[in-house]
Amino acid sequence: MSAPLQVRSLWEATAAPGPEFAALAAPVSAQAVVIGAGYTGLSAALHLARAGRDVVVLEAARIGERASGLNGGQVIPGVKDDPDELQERFGAGPGARMVDTVAGGPDLVFDLIREHAIACDATRTGWIQPATSETALRQLQRRVRQWQQRGAPLRMLSAAEVAALTGSSRYCGGLLDPRGGTVQPLAYVRGLARAAAAAGARIFARTAALRLVKTTTGWEVGTAAASAAAPVVILATNAYTDSISDTLRRSVVPVPSFQVATQPLPASLRAQILPGGQAASDTWRLLRYFRVESSGRLVMGSRGTYARAPRLAAVKHHYRAVAEIFPQLDGIGFEYHWGGMVAVTPDHLPHLHEPAPGLLAGLGYNGRGVAMATVMGRLLARRVLGAPADELGFPITPLKPVALHAFSRLGVRATVQYLRLADALTARRQPRVAGA
Ligand SMILES: Cc1cc2nc3c(=O)[nH]c(=O)nc-3n(C[C@H](O)[C@H](O)[C@H](O)COP(=O)(O)OP(=O)(O)OC[C@H]3O[C@@H](n4cnc5c(N)ncnc54)[C@H](O)[C@@H]3O)c2cc1C
Repeated sequence: MSAPLQVRSLWEATAAPGPEFAALAAPVSAQAVVIGAGYTGLSAALHLARAGRDVVVLEAARIGERASGLNGGQVIPGVKDDPDELQERFGAGPGARMVDTVAGGPDLVFDLIREHAIACDATRTGWIQPATSETALRQLQRRVRQWQQRGAPLRMLSAAEVAALTGSSRYCGGLLDPRGGTVQPLAYVRGLARAAAAAGARIFARTAALRLVKTTTGWEVGTAAASAAAPVVILATNAYTDSISDTLRRSVVPVPSFQVATQPLPASLRAQILPGGQAASDTWRLLRYFRVESSGRLVMGSRGTYARAPRLAAVKHHYRAVAEIFPQLDGIGFEYHWGGMVAVTPDHLPHLHEPAPGLLAGLGYNGRGVAMATVMGRLLARRVLGAPADELGFPITPLKPVALHAFSRLGVRATVQYLRLADALTARRQPRVAGA
């Protein structure tokens, strides 16, 4: 059996300390209770507090211990569906408004960072999607064309341009979306918490919501020590949804994603690998995402492991991915290894639900939640503030559990094996690209 791995997040090691919040110790009431303090819950709380609402936030862990403090920090515009698909699915008018909503994600993130002076190494240098096959390249061409028709500044990149921008000659072309960028994700979520608290939100950490009970005036949320009451409750628990709402928990499939970070790269390699500071996520079905962060380390993520204490063997494929994409990193060591859960939905779209009057939920970002969860928080706040459903710019859909099979680890593993095989077959069919 291989050696145990030391799981340690680069973001935890490099972020400034976050604000600390006490646990809920006495009963409270407010105009809204938000359950979960990641980007979704904190963006909702911030927007509600800024609109003058009295908000209480309950977080089971500490701020940023779950996906919002663990992710790759890539600020990715849009959702998995391209604009035409959204308009086909939801109709011309509502679809077009949805396109505007999702396209505005990076603007919202970078505006909040500026308005609230959040120190999180934010850079807006763009997001690259390098293509792993000619088929994927054609899909990117359609994507670029559709966004360009709507005035967005995307452009296609040749294989040589991708190689120059990323330092990898493994790709046959790609797209550049200048709307994207990067943040230090833990610093960003801690900054949102600080901003929400400064705007008046009362945040309680290490306070799991254990029970949700309908009352004559709204909802009562039970915790271990005391309860929080409000006419409105927002569930912002995403992939970490527990028994607080079993139906919500079963509406997404939590899939592990894992990242490794190298030691700081020497200047000669920094000048080659993503020298312009862009983030990148390639087009494999089991995509690999990578960036160089402010201390010069390459951070790369891909499918992860369910093990709480993974062994070295479980992450070897991450090392292989780095070696395959960046052979020039041979001999560079890995210093950080960590992962978290991504909430995947069957239609690959984020979901906004209103399962009962005064009860709202937003989740399911399919690995694109830095921008989209921040947007979802604002959508949830707008709904609480009285926005009619048809003016929200995002559909409120019925809450539906995913088929049972998807929730078994066996089910997710089988899907992962299938996707890996499909990627391997594509790779075998694909002629090697320049210099590879
Ligand atoms: C390894 C990894 C890499 C990723 N990389 C990227 C990326 O580069 N770019 C990108 O856009 N997205 C990325 N994502 C996705 C992104 O991190 C998420 O979509 C986003 O953080 C979701 O935010 P959230 O607030 O909805 O969920 P979370 O941040 O998970 O917050 C939910 C919170 O709810 C709390 N909670 C749960 N149950 C209860 C309860 N009963 N009571 C109280 N609190 C509760 C949890 O403790 C948690 O803090 C990545 C995700 C992972 C895991």
